[in-house]
Amino acid sequence: MSSLGPKVIDCDYTGHQGVAAAYLLREGDEAAFIETNTNLALPHLLKGLEEEGLNPEQVRYIILTHIHLDHAGGAGALMQACPHATLLVHPRGAPHMIQPDKLIASATQIYGEEQFAALYGTLLPVPAERVRIMEDGEVLVFGARRLRFFYTRGHANHHFCIHDDALDAVFAGDNFGITYPALQEYGRFVFPSSPPTDFDADAALQSIDKILAVGAKRVFPTHYGEVRELAETAASLREQLSLYQAWLEEAYSAGLAEDALDAFFVEKVRGEFAQRMTSLGFSLEDERRKLCEIDIMLNAQGLAFAVKKRRFKEQQANA
Ligand SMILES: [Zn+2]
Repeated sequence: MSSLGPKVIDCDYTGHQGVAAAYLLREGDEAAFIETNTNLALPHLLKGLEEEGLNPEQVRYIILTHIHLDHAGGAGALMQACPHATLLVHPRGAPHMIQPDKLIASATQIYGEEQFAALYGTLLPVPAERVRIMEDGEVLVFGARRLRFFYTRGHANHHFCIHDDALDAVFAGDNFGITYPALQEYGRFVFPSSPPTDFDADAALQSIDKILAVGAKRVFPTHYGEVRELAETAASLREQLSLYQAWLEEAYSAGLAEDALDAFFVEKVRGEFAQRMTSLGFSLEDERRKLCEIDIMLNAQGLAFAVKKRRFKEQQANA
């Protein structure tokens, strides 16, 4: 890895290349991981270290942008493999890394037990004394780098981004869209990620502004790799998030509930993907479109959840 890194490690998530990355930063004889993906990624992460001539004892930090399991599911196992590492995490995420029961329960609810086991295996807890909570705006000096952590809501309430001043880059987790390399043939194809249970379109828009306001030259979303066309990417994300806002309003005021609510968002999200992909140049038969299938369903579920949450809050307020 050049001193300007980072090393991009393909986590082979769901058995696909170019879906989820972990990033390896090197500082002299020390290293830091950003993201861990799942337990299944552990061999890829350790191989990435080995390729740099580093061993697990030299890993100083393991950083999670947030605790969704395609980012944090492997943290317990990686922490066990790297005995000198400290886990850096958002205060809302920390308790769940120390005590993963709730995390397992809520992910099982989304994926079902069988798929959960296949995707994530057994989540290992991280000892509390090895977990460090990062505050909003906190700067960590790591060798010659200054890593600045800043909170970004919208995708999840336990999300932060990291600005690395040496790389002039922001590690954006899931707050600067999902942009799979396989889908970039016709120009930047990017979409927001709006899964249950925290998705908030207004906050997601603010987080994009926050990321751009850093003024960095490049952004590394976890899904996947380097983005340099920041203005163009942000414009596409803003446009889609505005659509999401309009759909949320429409579903809410139409009083849609239960199956009708779910179906409304599946149709909207799927239709929007199909339209944008086709207008870019993808054919309807293009196999690569399948890469987005899980994301389409998760986005639709997250939007439906946001409507239910809004109603629930209003009922609470009126009670
Ligand atoms: Zn996520």
